[in-house]
Amino acid sequence: MNAGATMMPSAKIILFRFSMIMLSMLCLCGSAQGLPSPMVIPNKVDSNKAEPNQAEPNHHIVIAAGTVLDGHGHVLHNVRIVIEGSRIVEIYRVKNDRKNDARGDAKAGPVDYDLRGLTLLPGWIDAHVHITWSFGPDGKNAGQGGTTPEATYSAASNAWLTLMAGFTTVQSVGSPADVPLRDAIAQGLLPGPRILTANEALSGRGADTGMPEEIRAFIRKQKQAGADLIKIYASGGMTRGSMTMSQEQLNAACNEAKKQGLRSLVHAYRDAVRASTLAGCTEVEHGLGASDDDLKLMAERGTYLDPQAGLLLENYLQFRDQYLAAPYYTEEGFAAMPRLIPVSQEFLRRATKIPGLKIVYGTDAVAGMHGRNAEDFIHRVRDSGIDPMAAMVSANSLGAEALGMSDQIGSIAPGLQADIIALDGDPLKDITAVRRVVFVMKGGVVYKNSARSPVSVR
Ligand SMILES: [Zn+2]
Repeated sequence: MNAGATMMPSAKIILFRFSMIMLSMLCLCGSAQGLPSPMVIPNKVDSNKAEPNQAEPNHHIVIAAGTVLDGHGHVLHNVRIVIEGSRIVEIYRVKNDRKNDARGDAKAGPVDYDLRGLTLLPGWIDAHVHITWSFGPDGKNAGQGGTTPEATYSAASNAWLTLMAGFTTVQSVGSPADVPLRDAIAQGLLPGPRILTANEALSGRGADTGMPEEIRAFIRKQKQAGADLIKIYASGGMTRGSMTMSQEQLNAACNEAKKQGLRSLVHAYRDAVRASTLAGCTEVEHGLGASDDDLKLMAERGTYLDPQAGLLLENYLQFRDQYLAAPYYTEEGFAAMPRLIPVSQEFLRRATKIPGLKIVYGTDAVAGMHGRNAEDFIHRVRDSGIDPMAAMVSANSLGAEALGMSDQIGSIAPGLQADIIALDGDPLKDITAVRRVVFVMKGGVVYKNSARSPVSVR
């Protein structure tokens, strides 16, 4: 799905700077129509500085919270979260937090954001997106990696929508066009989630995939091009097709990734699941068709599983006419999708029963899904019977662990990045609360604050 065209890096930077200006204009339009302003730069940040999306090192923010899911499965009540620069430095428990009194004790005041009455949790992590995948100007699926101005704006928009939906980190698996987007966001030039990218994926094509040494060279090339991880396609599609790589080829790919200090994510169905596990790959994407024994082996080896629970297929069906095109999106394929939704949900239900299997949250976000990533939580809890707290943890501390970033993101704890979101509602009681993200902070910068303030304590 890669358009394959290349562009000089300088031209890309200009395009990204221009898209940032366009996004600022969009924000202004929103305010002019009386809509809540989507971006709130905290008072103490100098909004005239060149990169408004990065927190100043000594910038101090205090959040008052009534309920916090810490990302590890614990609930904290009546706390003040103190943030300095981009990090959380302290969490104070507040005694006798009186109604409508957000001042609290002196050490944790004054309060900048009173979010009592909401549910706070660490910014979510989506382990599997295609951040540049968009519909083109004709409304048809344009795939990922486009480098036209339209494709570039769409990619920037996808990043913005994803962040506004509460996802502060995504793993894009992905395309070379992810790299300048990742870098622009990291430099504070553009609002979006923290992006990890696979750059160009290794596509299994049987013997044509190459000899082990050629595969190893391909993996090293991705690292040189700035990849944060390696993506491998080791099997056919959801319903049929055998392995597209031999065990020996897979072994070479995942072993070389490991040698280069990179994780490996493998698109795998059926027998490719066991082969990826045996090859020592880090994470299996999708996984449908794996037996209980395959899943048990994954649990033993510590291989992560990243299944989907319905949003992806629903999205394809919703945008059927825009996707319909040979060779990947056929009438036959669409006809099979409705029955595959319950099959995916049953697979997740079965996988959840395997002791010790680490299941992360990844949506496979393609065109039409960006900004709706949280919808799959609803499928997981409502249709696959996943415990809502486990669903949250899969996109918080467990998701961070799978990324090798537990010391930076995935929980609300001192020393970690201040990636904090707030929901209007309690996802443990009503999972549809994940649709109501009213506050988004990433790295100590507030990007969204449409909460009522002050919020009365319930
Ligand atoms: Zn994918």
